[in-house]
Amino acid sequence: MTSKVYIGLGSNLSEPLMQVKTAVEQIATLPETVLVATSSWYRSKPVGPQDQPDFVNGVAEIDTTLGPMALLDALQELEQKHGRQRLRHWGERTLDLDIIVYGELSTTLPRLLLPHPFAYQRGFVLQPLAELAPELQLSGKSVSSWLAAVDTSDLRQIGA
Ligand code: ATP
Ligand code: CA
Ligand code: CA
Repeated sequence: MTSKVYIGLGSNLSEPLMQVKTAVEQIATLPETVLVATSSWYRSKPVGPQDQPDFVNGVAEIDTTLGPMALLDALQELEQKHGRQRLRHWGERTLDLDIIVYGELSTTLPRLLLPHPFAYQRGFVLQPLAELAPELQLSGKSVSSWLAAVDTSDLRQIGA
């Protein structure tokens, strides 16, 4: 069965825009996966420690027959390929790939919480996601209605 999945991308180290654009190309070559669309890219202030560079964020939409755990494994492998190191909680990273929504799946596994537990309150996820799927249901409300409720003043669009 094919599932529609939205992946949040983020980077704030080693040429962030290059990191996320390369990651999208790599996501497009994953097995059993078709890249459907990519949002534009946004610059955002970091969540957590403030003594780190701004992030570049965006969202990719895929259709895939990979199961949720196989997809998470593949995305974590990509993070490793980009030299991601775990330095501190919500700290700087070359590449972060979060599964925002996987079809209509809802899970509470620590290794894979779906929908992503913080997506509905993060402008840097909601704004690019709203470009692709404003009516998508996320944690009980549409993406566009969540977006209307959050502060996006820190976001700067930096191109498609
Ligand atoms: P946040 O989840 O608040 O955005 P983060 O992206 O910095 O924080 P990470 O250190 O990248 O967090 O990931 C910690 C763990 O979260 C990962 O090992 C992964 O197994 C787990 N995880 C749980 N739900 C998801 C999800 N929906 N997408 C990606 N990883 C998830
Ligand atoms: Ca994240
Ligand atoms: Ca993550």
